[in-house]
Amino acid sequence: MAQLPLVGGCMCGLLRYEVGTAPLMIYNCHCTNCQKIGGAAFNTSMIVTEASLRFTQGEPALVEWVADSGSTRCGLFCGACGSRIVNGGKPSTGVFSLRAGTLDDTSWVQPVGDTYTRSAQPWVHFVDGGLQAETLPPDFSPFVAAFRAQGRF
Ligand SMILES: [Zn+2]
Ligand SMILES: [Zn+2]
Repeated sequence: MAQLPLVGGCMCGLLRYEVGTAPLMIYNCHCTNCQKIGGAAFNTSMIVTEASLRFTQGEPALVEWVADSGSTRCGLFCGACGSRIVNGGKPSTGVFSLRAGTLDDTSWVQPVGDTYTRSAQPWVHFVDGGLQAETLPPDFSPFVAAFRAQGRF
């Protein structure tokens, strides 16, 4: 089980945040943006409503770019250590993709599947029995349902 609010922060500790309500879903994203942003094979993405996220310490810096999907995205990060905390849409889509690795407690995190599998590193092992999408899923409702079925909240 996970306890609300979820709390986390950047690597250097300047930025701290709270997520007040249950996330919508968690999945691993293998898009080339996630690979570049984290310098890693994939990102574990926790989708939260924008309204549920509150920075409790520090002011995040902002970056904008055009994603693989063609839409304009923005990211909030620590200007001191560079840790990316969330990505969102511009204009707002109402949700943030929070980088689950920034949570203080990741012990309860279990992704429900994998997105952008077409650009996954060939040695990556996808979530056992998980959902898979070659790019952005046209419909995220199976991901939301699978996350809810985990009963973490
Ligand atoms: Zn920092
Ligand atoms: Zn991605």
